[in-house]
Amino acid sequence: MKTSDTNAICKQFIEMVEQRSPGQPEFIQAVSEVAQFLVPFVEENPQYKKANILERIVEADRIIIFRVPWIDDQGNYRVNRGYRVQMNNAIGPYKGGLRFHPSVNLGILKFLAFEQVFKNSLTTLPMGGGKGGSNFDPQGKSDGEVMRFCQSFMTELCRHIGPDLDVPAGDIGVGAREIGYLFGQYKRIRNEFTGVLTGKGLAYGGSLIRPEATGYGVIYFTEEMLKGINTSLKGKTVAISGFGNVSWGVVLKATELGAKVVTISGPDGYIYDKEGISGEKIDYLLEMRASGNNRAEMYREKFPNAEFHKGKRPWEQKVDIAIPSATQNELDEEDARKLVANGVICVAEAANMPSTLDAIKVFLNAKVLFAPGKAANAGGVATSGLEMSQNAIHLNWSREQVDNRLKEIMIGIHTQCSRYGKETDEYINYVKGANIAGFVKVADAMLAEGHV
Ligand code: GLU
Repeated sequence: MKTSDTNAICKQFIEMVEQRSPGQPEFIQAVSEVAQFLVPFVEENPQYKKANILERIVEADRIIIFRVPWIDDQGNYRVNRGYRVQMNNAIGPYKGGLRFHPSVNLGILKFLAFEQVFKNSLTTLPMGGGKGGSNFDPQGKSDGEVMRFCQSFMTELCRHIGPDLDVPAGDIGVGAREIGYLFGQYKRIRNEFTGVLTGKGLAYGGSLIRPEATGYGVIYFTEEMLKGINTSLKGKTVAISGFGNVSWGVVLKATELGAKVVTISGPDGYIYDKEGISGEKIDYLLEMRASGNNRAEMYREKFPNAEFHKGKRPWEQKVDIAIPSATQNELDEEDARKLVANGVICVAEAANMPSTLDAIKVFLNAKVLFAPGKAANAGGVATSGLEMSQNAIHLNWSREQVDNRLKEIMIGIHTQCSRYGKETDEYINYVKGANIAGFVKVADAMLAEGHV
């Protein structure tokens, strides 16, 4: 089939999705990224076309929306909105994080749940895709307020989840503290101790390596990409964004493998530390996060040799590798052009959809190694899958066992992406590879399970 024909089919498909999901630009963006590769693939594979898999896969199995009432420390009656998007369970129970952030709305959670379907499939573990959360902002809230909110949220959510049904975890704004409160309330209401959430504390069923897993996985994947062009992380300079859990894991592993991480960022601007972020500076990232102040400038206050660039993004620095690790659409076309002009060789998405569609185009056209989040950051949810396995057999694996499995999984994802993404000139289009490889397993399961 001619490219112009598939382009027209793709356009029509996106228009249909837009019509059904008005006012959800992030969801349309995530679907568009996938559709540009899947539409031609499905045209060439009529079994998927006949079963209308594409139209079925963009429609969530179920979306739960609920009111979350809670009382703040001053005794005020407060209300937030809670969500769980159960996107697709063709290959396993719904699995994906919960995000607590004021920007949360249905469109954002649908984009995240949709991405999760492909990401979870790539891990090779039996996990479907889901995502949830609330527009609740944990910033500036007391522990007591966060606990009461989590309890109220779970009082409703507990009817819709379970260890073989839907297993939430953390995401932005939901870390160990929130998971603890959510788990406690689930256990109390359902009167059962099961692996219904992942990212749990070690004392009550959590897995070693889970906190580091997303960042470690990104770096294992990056090493594989670099190996393909006969180089490694050793001696490379790296720019990352954010300073949360994912960024922390990225810095830890990148530094261990001999790279120099020179930036982190927050909503206030970015830090450039020419000496590199290592040793006690990495530990300080944890303190910054625990302080509840979402300010990158804290780093400069502690380490005055570093520069703080107010209101700017780290992508203007000259580096070998860029790892956006904060949030969606934090790297646009102009940023991508600057990185390419400065000679970047590799970009790995540690956050979910941090690059805009136009930015991705710039990287692919420049033949920069570019790993989409659904491949590069899958180590987090993969290790959640390993936590589920440990809970199911009532055993805990050692650090080394979990880390080795994580590494194997990331190498496996790289192999799958290369298989479907290699172009005639040997350049690997990881976006194409990840989308097709992630799709095939889910689509085959959907074919086998009938029109349900
Ligand atoms: N929120 C993470 C992600 O985007 C982890 C999800 C999980 O562990 O279930 O993949």
